[in-house]
Amino acid sequence: NFDVSAPWLNRVLERKPRQFVRAVDDISFTVPMGGCLSLVGESGCGKSTVARLVTGLYRASEGEVRFAPGRSGEPLSAQMIFQDPFASLNPRWRVKNIIAEPLRELKLRNSDAEVMERVGELLRIVGLAPSDGSKFPHEFSGGQRQRISIARALAGEPEFLVCDEPTSALDVSVQAQILNLMRKLQDEMGLTYLFISHDMSVVRHMSDRIAVMYLGRIVEEADTETLFANPRHPYTRLLLETIPDIAEPKRHRSITASEVPSPLNPPSGCTFHPRCPLADGRCKSERPAMRNFADGSRAACHRVEEAAVATAKAIQAA
Ligand code: SF4
Ligand code: MG
Repeated sequence: NFDVSAPWLNRVLERKPRQFVRAVDDISFTVPMGGCLSLVGESGCGKSTVARLVTGLYRASEGEVRFAPGRSGEPLSAQMIFQDPFASLNPRWRVKNIIAEPLRELKLRNSDAEVMERVGELLRIVGLAPSDGSKFPHEFSGGQRQRISIARALAGEPEFLVCDEPTSALDVSVQAQILNLMRKLQDEMGLTYLFISHDMSVVRHMSDRIAVMYLGRIVEEADTETLFANPRHPYTRLLLETIPDIAEPKRHRSITASEVPSPLNPPSGCTFHPRCPLADGRCKSERPAMRNFADGSRAACHRVEEAAVATAKAIQAA
């Protein structure tokens, strides 16, 4: 089978001064080859921790990340694209040297002339001019800097890209340009994406499948159509309510950070219970198990049936 799998990133301990936080726990998902799986959730839910585990920047205390063989027969290599391109681009280096670094390090070209020819090509691929290579990162806008970090990621010829909030720091119009570029590159190069975002409209645009995370766990996973048409978990429904409605912008609800409990001291039972409109006594004491559904979705909620009825009523009322 051709899946890129990253299952069982299990019980990861992340060191903080004087204490341990279990940043993610019992996480399991598979990224389909050539597709895009998104992890979505509010800040602090563990999405970035998972991204860093998959790319090897963090190591799990238990569990494993498995990569299917890529085109070369070797396991896929993952490259990461970060939220803040300014922080991840060396400000003292000219852009051409930033992009050339992986080409030189991995010896992907033989001569310096070939390296620079490839740098020019990569700049063109991401919508910049080869002459932009002579400039420094600070001479570019945020969107252009993200194009540069995409070019650098592509220089290593990865088949798998882990993108952690790649457009969150950008204006909405620039965001759309970068997302469209990433989709085009995916089609043209057959790339596989693990995409991390807090923004449901962004993941809707990008993903084939979506896994919703809450306080270090996946609470629901479904293909994109199904998740939007038939959200099963009350937390997924809450996230969907935060998408601005173009017709009625005032109707959309925004979430404040203070609503999210600390991962240091997670609530008992279902960790979503303090915020859940359907919570009952069982929810406070018993953690819900993940349940699989016939349409290929899964969700961890004691009251999935009631949640589905509530969704149907809300849709009728709208
Ligand atoms: Fe809400 Fe209970 Fe379901 Fe948790 S298990 S999401 S508290 S209904
Ligand atoms: Mg993050």
